[in-house]
Order: sequence, then C-alpha cells, then structure tokens
Amino acid sequence: MNLQFNDSSITVAVVGCGGFIGSHLLDAILSRTKWRVFGVDLDFYRIQHRLNDERCEFMVADLADKSVVERIAKFPVVVNLAAICTPSRYMAEAPEVIRSNYDHPVALADACEKSGSWLIHFSTSEIYGRTSVDSGLLVEDETELTFGPVKSSRWSYATAKLLTERYIAGLKNLKWTVVRPFNFVGPYMDFMPGVDGSGIPRVLANFSSALVRGEPLKLVNGGVAKRSFTSVFDAVDFLFALFEAGQMGFVAADAITEKSPFSQAFNVGNPDNEITIADLAWKMRKIFAEIKGVNIESIPEPESISGVEYYGEGYEDSMRRLPSVEKAERLLGFKAKTPIDVVLRESLTWFVKHYGCLDERLETKDER
Ligand code: UDP
Repeated sequence: MNLQFNDSSITVAVVGCGGFIGSHLLDAILSRTKWRVFGVDLDFYRIQHRLNDERCEFMVADLADKSVVERIAKFPVVVNLAAICTPSRYMAEAPEVIRSNYDHPVALADACEKSGSWLIHFSTSEIYGRTSVDSGLLVEDETELTFGPVKSSRWSYATAKLLTERYIAGLKNLKWTVVRPFNFVGPYMDFMPGVDGSGIPRVLANFSSALVRGEPLKLVNGGVAKRSFTSVFDAVDFLFALFEAGQMGFVAADAITEKSPFSQAFNVGNPDNEITIADLAWKMRKIFAEIKGVNIESIPEPESISGVEYYGEGYEDSMRRLPSVEKAERLLGFKAKTPIDVVLRESLTWFVKHYGCLDERLETKDER
C-alpha cells in the first residue's frame, strides 16, 4: 500500500482519538488528507464536532478488550495515543497506570505484528527518568536511563512505558515507530479540576485553572525543574512528516532506507522553549493579565509547595527534560517551530475562553 494523502481508500486507526493529541490529529487528518479514520476512545467530548463525519467511524472501547485490539490491528496504520498520563495518578493508582501503559499497548503491538500494520506508539519523555537540573541533551539511542526506587511510585508510568518500548523494539516482525513527547501543550490539554476532571492535571492546565480561579500558582519544590514545552500543532506536523517518510515502507519492504522512520524512537520536543517551572508561572501570570486586561498586581503571586505535600508520598521529579531533536531533523526533516510565548498565549487564551468567561473578543485557534 502506498500511503498517499489523497488516497481515500486508506483508513488510519487512532486509539485515543478523543484525547488532547488525538483530537488535534483527527482534525489534521480530516483537513489535510482524504483518509478515513477509525477512532477508539472512552471519552469523545473534545471531538463532538466530528462525530457525524462520514469519513470517521468511532468505537467506545479501550485496549483491555481483545476483540477491539484485533479490529484496530486490521488497519494499515495504527496510532496509539491511549494512556493514563496524569502525574498525580502515578502514585495513587500505580497498577492501573501500568496496565494502561504496558499490558494494553503490548497486546496491540502483538496484534499489529501479526497483521503487518505500522504501529506508531506514543511513549513519553519521562522514560529518561530521574534527570538532574544540569543534565544535558536527552538523546534517543544514547542517554542512560535512571529511575528512583520502587517505593517512589512516581516512576510507575515511566517504567511501564519503557518496558513497552523495549517489548516493541524486540518484536522481530513489527513495523514500528515510537514517539517520545516532550511536554506537548495547547488547546484542549487535560482538564480543569472540579469542572471536567479531578486530581491534578499537568502543569499548564493546572496553572491555567489557578489563574482563572484567582488562586496562586503552586510551584512544586520551588519550581526549579525545567521543561521544554512543545506546541501540539508542531506535534501534529511531526506526525505528518512521519506519515510522509513512512510512505516508502508501504511501497515495498526492501524500500526501507537508512532514512526510514521504522524501528526508531523519536524525541518530539522544542529545546528552544526550555524554561523553569517558576519562570513559566511568572510568564503565564503576565500573559493572563494581558489577556484579561487587568492589572498584574491583582493576580496572586506563585507560592512554593513540597512535592510530597502536593502529590502525595512517592513523588519524585525529573529536574530537566531537554530533547535532542537531531534525529527527527535528520530522518524526517522535522523541527518544531512555535516559540514558547506564542504557545502559552494561544493555550491560555483558549483556556480562558473555554472555562473562564466566554469572551468572544479573544482570538484562539479553536475552530471546533
Ligand atoms: N508542577 C508544578 N505545579 C503544578 C503542576 C506541576 O510546579 O501545579 C511541576 C511538576 O512538579 C514538574 C513540572 O511542573 O516539575 C511539570 O509537571 P507536569 O505535571 O506538567 O508533568 P511532567 O513534565 O512532570 O511529566
């Protein structure tokens, strides 16, 4: 099969199509290609606008169901985004986190190996583990991986994801690509606690929620950890670069060249957007004041809190996540391009409009 974007006979399976990344990917596939989508999820609120699209078929299910796994694996390209990936759950619900991030994707990988489908599996930048504030670039096939002790249950997610990567890489006949996202952010990320979810969402959604509620942003252990935030729209562009590169492999198995995206793990991130969490908090506070047109002094200042107090026993942190993006550039010609100020303004504007006040003057990329 040739994976041309204008080929309306192609159906791509997207597992987790109703999630943050999945919903943006779905929009992009439907607008940039003629493909059809077989979408699987348990929650469809982000993709209400697509539910009656004649190019989509949706199924309310998860990968715990073997018959669903078999069905998904019949499609030539399978993008697996499904996961429990909320840090506050890694401590409280380790067995569920491990089932969702190991048992389920491994069953899908086995089925794709049998059927010959291309599995694009979403792993995590958290597999780089317990990094220090001065760790260098994280390089896909070189960096040593270190995790905390078993009683630090924070690592339940990372170790499950890592074992899945190792399993996938060990399957001799599976056509696979692994994606390691570095803090993707944008509209529809996570949830607002107490409104459409509970627990602690990831930092951008949590800071946005606090700003909308007029509460101080909480800096875990002073906010000295660093992250490299990546626009979800850049992440979708990465997937299209991947689809394009993958076309070769669909022409013939022996067309796999050294530039092939198969049997590779890719960091997808934006090292130019690296920032400490404390600086992120001050920046978001400033952008929020500008969006709302209020005096910045009226917005509470960030406050520090200990990780254990905030997340519970077993919490540890990755202190720095700086991606090497050389491989994606070399093999796929892809480089994330959206600067942090643009990503934050776009995400926060969307958040305020969606949850805060329905202020029609606010410009957002949200066309849903
Ligand atoms: N964090 C914070 N305040 C919050 C939420 C998160 O200071 O309200 C910190 C967290 O301790 C970590 C960083 O922000 O150092 C990123 O956390 P996130 O939950 O977004 O996910 P991670 O990148 O750790 O997977």
